[in-house]
Amino acid sequence: MSQRVLLEMDIQGLKEVVKGYGYPAYRGKQIWDWLYKGTFEITDMKNLPWQLQERLAMDFVTGIPSIIKKRVSKFDDTIKYLLKYHDGSIVECVRLVYRFGTTVCVSSQVGCRMGCTFCASAKGGLVRSLSSGELLAQVLTVQRDTGKRVSNVVIMGSGEPLDNFDNAVGFIRMLGHKEGLNIGQRHITLSTCGLVPEIIRLADEGLQITLSVSLHAADDATRARLMPVAKKYKIEEVLEGCRYYAQRTGRRVTFEYALVEGRNDRPEDAQRLASLLKGMLCNVNLIPVNPVEGSGYRQPDRSRVREFKDMLTQRGIAVTVRREMGRDIAGACGQLKAGYIKEGNIGN
Ligand code: SAH
Repeated sequence: MSQRVLLEMDIQGLKEVVKGYGYPAYRGKQIWDWLYKGTFEITDMKNLPWQLQERLAMDFVTGIPSIIKKRVSKFDDTIKYLLKYHDGSIVECVRLVYRFGTTVCVSSQVGCRMGCTFCASAKGGLVRSLSSGELLAQVLTVQRDTGKRVSNVVIMGSGEPLDNFDNAVGFIRMLGHKEGLNIGQRHITLSTCGLVPEIIRLADEGLQITLSVSLHAADDATRARLMPVAKKYKIEEVLEGCRYYAQRTGRRVTFEYALVEGRNDRPEDAQRLASLLKGMLCNVNLIPVNPVEGSGYRQPDRSRVREFKDMLTQRGIAVTVRREMGRDIAGACGQLKAGYIKEGNIGN
């Protein structure tokens, strides 16, 4: 029988497990406390009887991945991790330091099947989705490695979180556990390429997280060239889903817009985007595209980015330009992993 994952379980579940082995329920809470304090080896859980440790180690893995590569930016304390799970699956995870706190950007899947043409993670397709516990494990791993409390989480790494809906929502609820990490929903952002039925489902979950939607174009034809998912859902349907989300949750939706030279950075694009979003409870985050090898995409120059931003601002849209962080450490999506595989390492 395959081993189960300890981090998948809540306190009650852990209590049931130890009771099943003939131990008192409080032993379950002890296991929980060790994991959340960053003790990841069952044999290091010192207050557990050794017989219980052995039994647990037979039936369970913790779900914590090992750090196989770590790069620290010289410029801004950004840390990029390459993490390997017990089945050999590899994902990236990034720690970012802002004035307001420490953010971890987690990957929701190993690979991705959305196929965005500018994205390094899309290249090998989807390998598998990560479980809630495995998502949580990314945050716990960073917190232990840095010794600093993680205050914010963005589900914005590799993968499409709404293509892994139940585990993403389970993860969000786990983050908020008072006896766990205690990260409130207002400190969590989920980024999606725009799967409309799942956006609606998410709105109905009654969560208070920030929804971030990758728009990247202001007309369907341009969007479809950048993102195959645009062939399935028209921009108008995506926006309708976002309006529903904003109305249901009272939360402002963020639209991500990766600026790609000569593709979606014309004044007409800015104009059209402004009219699409007019009157909506939202803001726009412009991201000069990170050129991924082989894509042929380039960043527009600074003045063009500025011009695009100004056109939106003048039309009453709240807009920010994403600060580039950790550029010296392959900070962009999927690039560290791509480099690792290219160096001759085998990875999922
Ligand atoms: N699948 C989700 C989350 C993962 S990608 C989504 O599509 O939103 C997180 C964000 O990074 C998305 O806005 C994505 O479009 C963007 N992104 C991916 N590769 C990029 C690149 N090379 N340059 C700039 N932004 C990129």
